[in-house]
Amino acid sequence: MSDLSRKKFLQLAFGGSAAALAAAACKKSPSYYVVANKGLVCTDESGLAPADVQARKARGYVDHAADPKQNCGNCVNFRAVSANNCGACAALKGPINPDGHCSSWTKPA
Ligand code: SF4
Repeated sequence: MSDLSRKKFLQLAFGGSAAALAAAACKKSPSYYVVANKGLVCTDESGLAPADVQARKARGYVDHAADPKQNCGNCVNFRAVSANNCGACAALKGPINPDGHCSSWTKPA
């Protein structure tokens, strides 16, 4: 098969679907990234002293509040670091999810 006929054959056999496949592979829609981003996780306690880990447990820190009206992001103790990153807390050490919660949640004045 000559190069010309091979090219013609491939165009006829796969031309349309190959072009569509290539376009789909190159197109990275925002939804692709949304699917890849499984949400902010602020549960790494590996850098904390045992007493600080215990304090988080004692106050029942969870990464996702059951009541969105009472989450870390709207607690007086929350200290945001930057958008889409774990923050800090004036009452607990370690990474804090703005979506998290603990028993020391306090409504801002
Ligand atoms: S006190 Fe509790 S609810 Fe408030 S920011 Fe700290 S961990 Fe979150």
